[in-house]
Amino acid sequence: MTAEIISVGTELLLGNILNTNAQYLSRELAELGITVQRESTIGDNQGRLADFVNEAKNRCDLLVFTGGLGPTADDLTKETVAACYGDTLVFDESEWEKITGYFARSGRVTTPNNRKQAMVPVKGRKIINHHGTAPGAWFEQEGRCAVLMPGVPSEMKAMWNESVRPLLMKRQNCTLHSVTLRVLGGESSLEYQVRDLLENANPTAAIYCKTGECEIRITARAASDAEGEKMCREYAKKFYDLLGDAVYDEDVAGLEETLVRTLKEKGLTLSTAESCTGGLIAQRITSVPGSSEVFGYGFVTYWEAAKARLVGVEPDVIAKYNVVSAPVAAQMALGAAQAAGAEIGISVTGVAGPTGGDALRPVGTVYLGAARGETVYVKKLSVSRPDRALVRARAAQAALELALR
Ligand code: ATP
Ligand code: MG
Repeated sequence: MTAEIISVGTELLLGNILNTNAQYLSRELAELGITVQRESTIGDNQGRLADFVNEAKNRCDLLVFTGGLGPTADDLTKETVAACYGDTLVFDESEWEKITGYFARSGRVTTPNNRKQAMVPVKGRKIINHHGTAPGAWFEQEGRCAVLMPGVPSEMKAMWNESVRPLLMKRQNCTLHSVTLRVLGGESSLEYQVRDLLENANPTAAIYCKTGECEIRITARAASDAEGEKMCREYAKKFYDLLGDAVYDEDVAGLEETLVRTLKEKGLTLSTAESCTGGLIAQRITSVPGSSEVFGYGFVTYWEAAKARLVGVEPDVIAKYNVVSAPVAAQMALGAAQAAGAEIGISVTGVAGPTGGDALRPVGTVYLGAARGETVYVKKLSVSRPDRALVRARAAQAALELALR
């Protein structure tokens, strides 16, 4: 099946907004095994849109539109495309009730131009919008189809996932199965390592970069879910062969989920002493449902005095080595575990920036500790960009990684 994506809206041509809809749909269509041959952006102009659709509909099986379904005079996609596909529109009472209800609930009254949004295809079908007032539409002529979705990205995505994607899957007679591998490390080296595996048609594999880690999403198209799962497993094995231990888990939200599950399995509890991350690690751990089984409390020890009072860091050690140092990180980790009566303690002390630090410890220098019993591991992290949010996020990530060891 071949497709083209058409984004409608003068604001896109003027550069006022970024066309994120086209990017999203390109990726989604590729996953369905539908070849996207062209992407176009058209202004809110009925004549030009009609000319375009009349040509494009003969070039491919499916035209995917977003935008121009609203109530204003410049929202013309529905009537224009209907005419190109030999269809007309009719007023739909139930859609109108939905629209008036929606307005009433938000304390507004409808105006006559809102009726336009309640117009639906006569021969084609309407696509219900559960998240806004403009229904989508599906037109079909001699086996060639057009699907119209709203321009508002959140509404478009919801309609795509709830209605359009299932419809296309049914037409293609397939199901989709996905596995997401979570991999530690940066995107460029990872992409280089696995580059040969990213060019596959089915299963597809794509890399998405996160802070301090990447996600590899493998998606298989198959006749049944069981077959899709088998295809994903076999393809995932190729990644494991290349990446080994760098793949730390599958289908999880992040390191915190893996850490909480691992601690539960081992019957261990954990505490934290955080300086420059100010509670980010505790926040990530407690975002996992059921984390209270493994995490009772942690400490935000921002001042030197707090490091001494709450987790027992010796002032002499701070004076001798500096507060941002391996010995202080070690004492913080040991102290956090001891003070909370937990088996494991993790710690962070560093210079988050954007200013501060010195020649020995420039902005982005962070020491992390992970203690278990008497044993403590310490790691130094150097973030080269003086970006406070980035340094904090990378530090929290590295600390969770260290805790998993
Ligand atoms: P509405 O009912 O809000 O008028 P609509 O279906 O007519 O919806 P548009 O008017 O074309 O859609 O777009 C509504 C808003 O959605 C735009 O102002 C813009 O912020 C966003 N939008 C539209 N198209 C895109 C796109 N291709 N990528 C990202 N955002 C978009
Ligand atoms: Mg509009």
